[in-house]
Amino acid sequence: MKKEQNQTPKRVNPYMGFLWSILVLLLLNGLIFPKIAEKQIISTDYGSFIEKVDSGKVKDVAIKSNQIYFTAEENGKTIAYQTGEINDPQLVNRLLNAQSPNPDKRIAFNQIVPRENSPILDFLLMWILPGLVFYLLWRQAGKSIQARMNASGGNFMSFGNSGAKIYAESDIKTTFADVAGQDEAKETLKEIVDFLHNPTKYTTIGATLPKGALLVGPPGTGKTLIARAVAGEAKVPFFAISGSEFVQMFVGMGAAKVRDLFKQATEKAPCIIFIDEIDAIGKRRDTGIGGNDEREQTLNQLLTEMDGFDGRKGVVILAATNRPETLDKALLRPGRFDRRIQMELPDLEGRKAILNVHLKKVKHENIDMDIVARATAGSSGAELANIVNEAALRAVRMGRNLVTTSDLEESVETVIAGAQKKNKILSTKEKETVAYHEIGHALVAAMQTNSAPVHKITIIPRTSGALGYTMQVESNEQSLLSKEDLFNRIVTYTGGRSAEEVMFGSFTTGASNDIEQATKLARAMVTRYGMSDKYDMMELETVNNAYLGNDSSLVCSNETAADIDKEVLGIIKKAHEKAKSIISANKEIMHKAASFLIEKETITGDEFMKIVHENNK
Ligand code: ADP
Ligand code: MG
Ligand code: ZN
Repeated sequence: MKKEQNQTPKRVNPYMGFLWSILVLLLLNGLIFPKIAEKQIISTDYGSFIEKVDSGKVKDVAIKSNQIYFTAEENGKTIAYQTGEINDPQLVNRLLNAQSPNPDKRIAFNQIVPRENSPILDFLLMWILPGLVFYLLWRQAGKSIQARMNASGGNFMSFGNSGAKIYAESDIKTTFADVAGQDEAKETLKEIVDFLHNPTKYTTIGATLPKGALLVGPPGTGKTLIARAVAGEAKVPFFAISGSEFVQMFVGMGAAKVRDLFKQATEKAPCIIFIDEIDAIGKRRDTGIGGNDEREQTLNQLLTEMDGFDGRKGVVILAATNRPETLDKALLRPGRFDRRIQMELPDLEGRKAILNVHLKKVKHENIDMDIVARATAGSSGAELANIVNEAALRAVRMGRNLVTTSDLEESVETVIAGAQKKNKILSTKEKETVAYHEIGHALVAAMQTNSAPVHKITIIPRTSGALGYTMQVESNEQSLLSKEDLFNRIVTYTGGRSAEEVMFGSFTTGASNDIEQATKLARAMVTRYGMSDKYDMMELETVNNAYLGNDSSLVCSNETAADIDKEVLGIIKKAHEKAKSIISANKEIMHKAASFLIEKETITGDEFMKIVHENNK
């Protein structure tokens, strides 16, 4: 995967401070008792001390508080000793008696009186000195961390004068070539790149470029990627921060950080400021009671800064979000994020292009791009990147050094349905049920006009819990779906259960996912697409979040809501009946295809269609 995109400031670990102060204390101890620290001192008893004195080995003696330190010459070496002082009135006499007439060999002895430091000196030693040493070490540590970051992470420039820091990357390698498809977005952004390259071209005529552009689209469509590509193409510093970082990392100083950010960006102009996931700070201010003060202040500051700075200087603000509908209107008015760049899920050609970009990074041979691109309808760029990587991993697992089409196909299925679950044992009866169920879906799809062709049927269980599935692949991407198309899809969803009913006279839990899908679709037909007779073109539901899972809420009375349920049920029942009648009319095909599937476990759409055609005369 890609390298981390937002450079979060690194802080020195606070526990380091504690360690430093211990070190300082150790150093001070060394200063106060240099003698002790200097050499190794052997502890001995008072008796051997006296004995050494008497035998004339002792050279000098120092008595300090209740310890006696002395050195003795033994075997030509001077050894330092230490012993406890005993209240021995004879000690001085002994030492004097032991003096030899030779002045060189006299024992030098004295008592070290503990030095009484002046209170000021004490204060300096105990408080100021450690503090000073601590501060110096601290600053040094900070500097060396900074230096290491500069050395390792490319060219980072730190900025800001408060606490935590944000870094601007100045040498981004990402270019538009790394972003496949998304041609409209690139077109718009190229103008910005051109402006950053050559601002005078625009300013001489008096034009100001938009200050900000908002990248909008579902997750994984390359918003963050394309923002980096703009910086890479323009070769300007890239200040990247995620919206949530403002409120999380700089608690209580989001607004100050925004001010800092713009100040530094103006100094580094031309440059790009990129605020990822801007919805974290840019949410509408009027929602809810007692909103989030911190966030609102940050947003207000952002609005003020965007108004305040000179658009001709060459600071361009890019922001990305997948929840544009939650953004404060003030952010979107002209002079702020007045350009809106839509990043959509890739179409067939787009998917091929994205697969190509990512396949460049892995070794591969004659990939049938068309099959893979068709099988991945609805996938985002990020998912496609993941599919290519999964395929490469699979190739390695299989002991090959090239990625093939089958690796890609298998990894598509892994991403859609989970990995194969080889050790899951199904009883013969269960296997039979699953086979008929899946063939039911496939047959109903095949018998209806305008359904997507069956691509593959399998009864190998998957880790997602699917015991088998039927994969349909659209032959050409449809943007508009008719009422009949949607109804036929619901019929196909009900085909599995219908097969169980018609062929076995009973049914299982195997249709739970089909039920969910069929209901969702039938409900959308009634509430969103105006496809029921009763409610005509009335809006019954609004979509809250177009890019994140389509969650929606009803906008109608409770009575209508209950009535909608009846409408939905009506559609599903009609579809179910149709599916059952298709299966009943083709029992022969059902038996043949199902036994073929049980034998093979996985069959292709072509193999299935052959059986259908042979028996459908
Ligand atoms: P977003 O910010 O829109 O959620 P990202 O920009 O983070 O998505 O995309 C995630 C990854 O998906 C990228 O790093 C890239 O590998 C891949 N990707 C997404 N869109 C594209 C694209 N159009 N072309 C090539 N790769 C893409
Ligand atoms: Mg992103
Ligand atoms: Zn099913």
